Amino acid sequence: MIYNINKVREDFPILGREVYGKPLVYLDNGATTQKPRVVVDAMVDEYYSVNANVHRGVHFLSQQATELHEASRETVRRFINARSTNEVIFTRGTTESVNLLASSFGDGFMREGDEVIISTMEHHSNIVPWQLQAARRGIAIKVIPMNDQGELLLDEYEKLFSERTKLVSITHVSNVLGTINPVRQMITMAHEHGVPVLVDGAQGVPHAAVDVQDLDADFYAFSGHKVYGPTGVGVLYGKEEWLDRLPPYQGGGEMIQTVTFEKTTFNELPFKFEAGTPDYVATTALARALDYVTALGMDNIALHEHELTQYAMNRLREIPGMRLIGEAEHKSSVVSFLVGDIHHFDMGTLLDRLGIAVRTGHHCAQPLMQRLGIEGTVRASFGLYNTKEEVDILVAGVERVSRMF
Ligand code: PMP
Repeated sequence: MIYNINKVREDFPILGREVYGKPLVYLDNGATTQKPRVVVDAMVDEYYSVNANVHRGVHFLSQQATELHEASRETVRRFINARSTNEVIFTRGTTESVNLLASSFGDGFMREGDEVIISTMEHHSNIVPWQLQAARRGIAIKVIPMNDQGELLLDEYEKLFSERTKLVSITHVSNVLGTINPVRQMITMAHEHGVPVLVDGAQGVPHAAVDVQDLDADFYAFSGHKVYGPTGVGVLYGKEEWLDRLPPYQGGGEMIQTVTFEKTTFNELPFKFEAGTPDYVATTALARALDYVTALGMDNIALHEHELTQYAMNRLREIPGMRLIGEAEHKSSVVSFLVGDIHHFDMGTLLDRLGIAVRTGHHCAQPLMQRLGIEGTVRASFGLYNTKEEVDILVAGVERVSRMF
């Protein structure tokens, strides 16, 4: 064992509860992760003993809240190895990060006939914002195809570039297939065409160390709640040279330098993109979550989850009628499957009765479902606290449900 999993599980009070009189087996980490005590305690502590609005007050509490908030930005910077805290913008989550960039990049750099490249396996939050831009500005969306194992076809990707390509926006890890895309290589390829890249890291950051400088990503988005932090906070990383050139997203307090009724000048980075009161309590708690996973070691978490995923896939494969969906060579801790003609919803509902929380449906990736020719899948997604015993319970549950049909 890489870290003491039983001790780690004690840090997450919810894992001790029962549902329907059965111990909870929580395998829906792709949707959201559970929170360790240090994260929730940080929020309670801040509300009880510090709470004041940040950046605006001369008084003691406001300064203390501001220090906590800005220290959190530094924690995020270190965690993803950004060059500067100017490159770390706090948002509500991955969805807002992508919308911020689509809107701002669209305003700044996209005209009718320009093109954005995305992939077959994108979450709706990395499809619809570009469609909104397409409707507004007449830009075109090109889609990187994939093979049946769930791997993007890089030769086809190369062919999609044209003189009108303005941006590539791709997921680091598929929330349905678990595929870890070769984003570093894909970024190099885009840069050879002079095109910047946004990486949707919602499923990347929680499962392996991410170094934005090593990837050479121009933009990288992730959500706090998927990496053991609170809901309502996320990050958009952007290279300073890009963020400097991009126009603001929303207008309001904090993002300005001076305002008259005639003209407004904007604040410096990162505040130019942070209109209004941020969720400063959540940013503090996000920093505690990042400290927590850092202490366990991202490499240890990756190794543990890799072993669990391999074990789960091998065991599930033995079940008659099992169809695993997503068998990429490089795969994260997501296992999607269907058994015979059992509807994914029936499987999920019956597993739930056994205390096993999995996700069913299209997982906000309907175009990917269309590519696969299915309506949905059952998805088990593992986190740092899941155990082999829990995988055994899942496998026994799937066997039991399969026998019922
Ligand atoms: N992208 C991917 C790959 C995701 O898995 C998710 C969440 N399921 C999102 C984006 C959206 O994240 P959020 O809802 O936290 O904004």
